[in-house]
Amino acid sequence: MYRTHNCGALRIENVGEEVTLSGWLQTSRDFGGMTFIDLRDRYGITQLVFNMDDDADLCQKARKLGREFVLKATGKVRERSNKNPNRNTGDIEIEVTALDVLNASKVPPFTIENDTDGGDDLRMKYRYLDLRREQVQNNIIFRSQLALETRKHLSGEGFIEVETPNLIKSTPEGARDFVVPSRMNPGQFYALPQSPQTFKQILMVAGLDKYFQIVKCFRDEDLRADRQPEFTQIDCEMSFVTQDEILATFERLTKHLFKSTIGVKLGDFPRMEYDEAMKLYGSDKPDIRFGMQFVEFNDVAKGHGFAVFDNAEMVVGICAEGQAESYSNKHIKELTAWMQRPQIGAKGLVYVKWNNDGSVKSSVGKFYSDEQLMTWLEKAGAKKGDMLLILSGEDEKTRKRLNELRLEMGRRMGLMKEGDFKPLWVVDFPLLEWDEESGRFHAMHHPFTSPKKEEVDRMLNGDHETMKSLKADAYDLVINGVEIGGGSIRIHDRALQSRNFDLLGFSKEEAEAQFGFLLGAFEYGAPPHGGIAFGFDRLCAVLNGQNSIRDFIAFPKNNQGRDMMIDAPSPIHDEQLEELSIDLRKQEAH
Ligand code: ASP
Repeated sequence: MYRTHNCGALRIENVGEEVTLSGWLQTSRDFGGMTFIDLRDRYGITQLVFNMDDDADLCQKARKLGREFVLKATGKVRERSNKNPNRNTGDIEIEVTALDVLNASKVPPFTIENDTDGGDDLRMKYRYLDLRREQVQNNIIFRSQLALETRKHLSGEGFIEVETPNLIKSTPEGARDFVVPSRMNPGQFYALPQSPQTFKQILMVAGLDKYFQIVKCFRDEDLRADRQPEFTQIDCEMSFVTQDEILATFERLTKHLFKSTIGVKLGDFPRMEYDEAMKLYGSDKPDIRFGMQFVEFNDVAKGHGFAVFDNAEMVVGICAEGQAESYSNKHIKELTAWMQRPQIGAKGLVYVKWNNDGSVKSSVGKFYSDEQLMTWLEKAGAKKGDMLLILSGEDEKTRKRLNELRLEMGRRMGLMKEGDFKPLWVVDFPLLEWDEESGRFHAMHHPFTSPKKEEVDRMLNGDHETMKSLKADAYDLVINGVEIGGGSIRIHDRALQSRNFDLLGFSKEEAEAQFGFLLGAFEYGAPPHGGIAFGFDRLCAVLNGQNSIRDFIAFPKNNQGRDMMIDAPSPIHDEQLEELSIDLRKQEAH
């Protein structure tokens, strides 16, 4: 028998019992006459004691053991004289009478502690050691719990989990596909799903009514910070539902997950139209833990001889409460430089301070009288002590930059409070987005998203300009400025779906070749349907108040899309290439 208890189980009540524990050597301390070993497993740490006077051989043996040795120890539980209140097992220790070394260990390349000295690359290469750290283990355990609660809740609401295939044909979600060559069909390839989108819609045509799946998705994107080429979604689809019913269903799921995993009771989720989000926050995923909404100054700022504002399409700013006196010229300079970094690209930053003594000070004071600046402050609802920060330029770009500034000010002013969760539905997204560069429309959500009912006629018969203004039944769930998920009501009518493919630049033949199965299915009684998908990894991180999804994935890839532990991707043998009818030399010659 390897153990009678795990390393987190024993308490003061167990004093006097003879027990056996197995685990890893976390640390050992040698005090000449006595040696202490901390034995660790998934459940905790228990202190082992060896006494020179009781058993010199055993004590000698214990002294020689290194970190991460795997041990089995038998002995008696006794009360500790020096208790450790930070540990569940801190009241007791084991007086060891027998010790087996189950396996030795090389000295690990970094310390297995919460505050490890290992850099990212090293930890990823030795992920099995990294995963021994309590913090990382807790994340993986949390993830398991979240998946379980998701399944419990959704199955309680009548959803059934259906697995959809991984070897498929492209399902476009706006990224590149990973492809897999088919040995049995030379020259042909499967694509890995970017999402199960088309399959879940087919399941609705098939009458399954309520589907969910906790599912891997694969997207070959240039890896921006904290993206993973494979990630997990809670993917859902429902039949005979309106947008309102879908939002209500997933509001219930979200509330359940927050309550059951971190004990947080969320209030009702407000809704905001996409247009309003862009206007007030310059972002389709506003962090509404704080206000600082955008204020437009075109009417008061233009026409007073300040060329920068006069020539700008939009003059827009935010009011930073109580910041007038905290921002010296030096601070303003630093903030301006922050805004001028290439990632943001603002040309300049204008401030108007309303000092506590009532005086007004501004970087554009030369062009505007105090009375004029006062009207700006009033417009922004400012009080004495507040400061306006104003940007100008082309409308959309300026709002995006101001969004960055708003978030930065929110951070600096401590307005993004930990443990404060503010969910928000962003609704009424545009259906299509015109891309100047390619001269084409792109689907804002994906090609299967339905325009709003009242827009169908305009979509079928409208001109090019009309298409730009079509609104969709598409929605995102945003929590604290992070997009948790998104979905839409789908098109379930063949003619409308064909029109959408048309607008997206698919020829009839291409649409038929890629999505003929779906168009075909729509001819056999497709019910009205819609759904949503949550980013599961992201949800894990947000629930834990963390930014990085990598910490919640057991075996994540690095920024180059590589798995550092198994060293993938990697070349394959010539024979394998031949079997797959892939001739790399021929490709190089091309
Ligand atoms: N398939 C979509 C996505 O991955 C979600 C949905 O529309 O249900 O974003």
